[in-house]
Amino acid sequence: MEAKTREPIICVLGHVDSGKTTLLDYIRGSVVASREAGGITQHIGATDVPFEVIRGLCGDLINKIKLKIDVRGLLFVDTPGHEAFTTLRKRGGSVADIAVLVVDLRDGLMPQSIEAIAILKQYKTPFIIAANKVDRISGWQKSTLPQKQPQHARDEYFKHFYNLIGQLSEQGFDADQYNQVTDFTKQVAIVPVSAETGDGVPELMMMVMGLTQTYLTDQLSVALASPAKGTILEVKEETGLGTTVDAIIYDGVIRKGDSIVVGARGEPVITKVKALLRPKALDEMRDPREKFKNVDAVYAAYGVKIVAPGLSRALSGAPVYVGGEELVQKVKEEMGEIEFTKDILGVIVKADTLGSLEAIINLLSNNNIPVKKGGIGQVSKQDVIEASAVSHENKLLGLILAFNAKVPEDVARYADAHEVEVIANKVVYQIIEEYLEWASEKKDSQKRLREKTVAHPVKFQILKDHVFRTTKPAIVGVEVLSGTLLNKTRILLPNGRVKGRIKGIQSEGESIEKAVSGDKVAISIDDFTVGRHADEGDILYAFISHDDLTELKKGELSEEDKQILIEIKEKQKTNDGIQVRP
Ligand code: GDP
Repeated sequence: MEAKTREPIICVLGHVDSGKTTLLDYIRGSVVASREAGGITQHIGATDVPFEVIRGLCGDLINKIKLKIDVRGLLFVDTPGHEAFTTLRKRGGSVADIAVLVVDLRDGLMPQSIEAIAILKQYKTPFIIAANKVDRISGWQKSTLPQKQPQHARDEYFKHFYNLIGQLSEQGFDADQYNQVTDFTKQVAIVPVSAETGDGVPELMMMVMGLTQTYLTDQLSVALASPAKGTILEVKEETGLGTTVDAIIYDGVIRKGDSIVVGARGEPVITKVKALLRPKALDEMRDPREKFKNVDAVYAAYGVKIVAPGLSRALSGAPVYVGGEELVQKVKEEMGEIEFTKDILGVIVKADTLGSLEAIINLLSNNNIPVKKGGIGQVSKQDVIEASAVSHENKLLGLILAFNAKVPEDVARYADAHEVEVIANKVVYQIIEEYLEWASEKKDSQKRLREKTVAHPVKFQILKDHVFRTTKPAIVGVEVLSGTLLNKTRILLPNGRVKGRIKGIQSEGESIEKAVSGDKVAISIDDFTVGRHADEGDILYAFISHDDLTELKKGELSEEDKQILIEIKEKQKTNDGIQVRP
């Protein structure tokens, strides 16, 4: 089959206000200027930057890289941000081949930049850093390398630059100024730019082209006539057209009249393409209501609006494949990898979109946190019930993580009533950090709780010929006569005094937490000497404090326990529970 090299798909990511939109506008502006010269088509949801535009922008620079593959241009996704990036998902990765991470040079890495990096790492997407707003450095000269800037501008630039390098290194990346990078597979290139003035944009484009040459030779080779594969960027209601999907086609060809299988809420949708639309250029638009132009076929890479019946259940982030019945199972499985319920102990995850759900599930799996259920949409009472059931078995997993997903007021109250924790956050890596913090806090409190376990009534006897060690610690064999013998129990001596604390219980060489009536076990006792405080054959009790008694009365006490408590009370009365001083 005839093959061709498709345009690499580029996504722009970064913290809010770092200048993503301004950068995309600058790039689009160059395209529009060239479009007026003719020949360039518009896409839906993406901007095609043809090679001639790049050449126009870059001038002589273009000759500096050796172009091994014939890239016809670059396809920039119009919506910046990691939501669009994660929405542009395909099985096992992202549709975006390369990302540009925009950073406000003076701010360095902000929470959303770190989140973007976590996601890019997860998807193994190569990226370049646009260190933006260099025009704000006083004295900065356009089209001049940082090293050649006037002293003052140079000092300020490098202060921020090295700060950025340090922050990137904390995230596990070796980075350097773009023209110093020798190996793109090992280092991240930083390009100083101004999205406002366009300074550095040619260099940025060059780097993207260079990265394409380094990484993507095979990835970009697509069979011309194979059935299209695409991803839904947005599901949109259009007047007169019904529900349409805006899709990025990353492989093959889609034609009007083709049968397609679309990932959807519930079962996949099989339908027929009624129309393929792209936007009209301004000069083509005689009637402003006619926003779109019909096309018969589009080839990857392309952003296109698909009009077809039955698309209302389609989901953004879901696949669109040209094909029929034979693909339904495949699409179902793909969707099932993201939205699922498993019969395991794990956390419950809710997110607003398929893409974000997949991103968080992947990050959880990287952190070895099992997921019982992944779902799209708001947190429900059913989620609380399921988390609560998990919590009975595993306190550290019985909770809900809500990423950009609503937690309705009544559900929040329901969760409180069931003591189910809901961690809601809009930043994916922060959710995971919050969860890890919560889990470690929970572990500590469980430990604290265990350490201050209330003493339980018990009556036990030191067995004859079973004194293995008299002191430090004393080790003796005992038989539990009634009640429950717990670790850490303080001991009530036959004379009514309190002395020693159980340090460990063993049965057949194994450490155990407790022994019950009839059990014969070995115990070690701290702060206790056999022969001085008690002897073999002596009957001992647990010391029960007033606090212990109050706690015990809150729970169910067996008749046996009540009987021991009466005996303990009698003993303690003889000495009022005074502890023996050593
Ligand atoms: P986004 O939230 O990342 O899309 O950021 P915007 O593109 O909306 O930019 C945020 C603000 O920074 C706007 O006021 C822009 O005009 C400004 N801005 C963006 N890039 C630059 C730049 O390179 N230089 C200067 N001086 N301002 C910029």
